[in-house]
Amino acid sequence: MTMMKMDLSPGITDHVGTPVAVSLQNVSKRYRKGNRDVRALNRVDLTIRAGERLALIGESGSGKSTIGKLVLAQIQADEGHVAVLGTDALSKRERSRQLARRVGFVFQQPFDSLDPRMRIGSSLAEPLRIHRRDLSKPEIIERVSEGIAAVGLPRDFVSRYPGQLSGGQAQRACIARALMLQPDLLILDEPTSALDATSQREVLRLLCDLHAAREIAWLFITHDLRVAEAITDTTAVLRHGDLVEYGPTVEVLRNPRTDYARRLVDASFSSGLHGAEAATGSSSAAVGL
Ligand code: ADP
Ligand code: MG
Repeated sequence: MTMMKMDLSPGITDHVGTPVAVSLQNVSKRYRKGNRDVRALNRVDLTIRAGERLALIGESGSGKSTIGKLVLAQIQADEGHVAVLGTDALSKRERSRQLARRVGFVFQQPFDSLDPRMRIGSSLAEPLRIHRRDLSKPEIIERVSEGIAAVGLPRDFVSRYPGQLSGGQAQRACIARALMLQPDLLILDEPTSALDATSQREVLRLLCDLHAAREIAWLFITHDLRVAEAITDTTAVLRHGDLVEYGPTVEVLRNPRTDYARRLVDASFSSGLHGAEAATGSSSAAVGL
């Protein structure tokens, strides 16, 4: 009954004794590009506590996705320490297994994340088939049906192919799949940037509702500060791999200390679309949720 043991394995708090989902300590990362080094992260310190929603913002190339990849253990840090859900002391193999189970991720392009030849139901069932071999086929079907309903899609969408879905619907399906294993951490890398304004709002509202129902720690990567304001607790601002601002979202957005962050704030809030709503709201009203 190894699965049972996994299910009862320590949560975010008791494994290491502190309620921390993600911790980056003094983390640096360089990439080799041709014959020169590109510095992607420079001595970054960052913590996401259990259930906390952190927005990671910064212009393109500032190192945001690199942090996402480090947390997913897709790449290794050159210096410093990355700890995720108390798995850092485990063997590499066991850590990958746990991370695959306990960390969900949603990327910018929903159609890149869904196999066009697989029905939505099969895509959602896949993580269960791999990681929950204790579940029977009817149990998997039941969970997939619940999962699709939980993101506001009709249950009969399980028999559709990705090509039969709109961008917003496809991203909902991706979110449903990311949640199938009830993760403790969700990495969202620009999850609404490719969507039209209406789908964007709907998906953000969905994420808020899901968070209200079950507190999952978020690493929410976005360049849109209106989104950060609407749905995150903490904001970290990256510039050329340096963490230049870090604190409660409200404070960072209301009183940016650096010119760089101020420019990002101004650019986001003056870019039309929901600018007027954004300027007046202090929470989810900002994106018209
Ligand atoms: P962001 O997500 O904020 O746009 P990234 O983390 O993707 O930024 O990239 C940070 C920096 O690292 C950029 O200068 C980018 O060009 C570089 N970079 C990212 N991935 C690679 C890679 N695989 N090889 C070389 N350089 C990379
Ligand atoms: Mg990126």
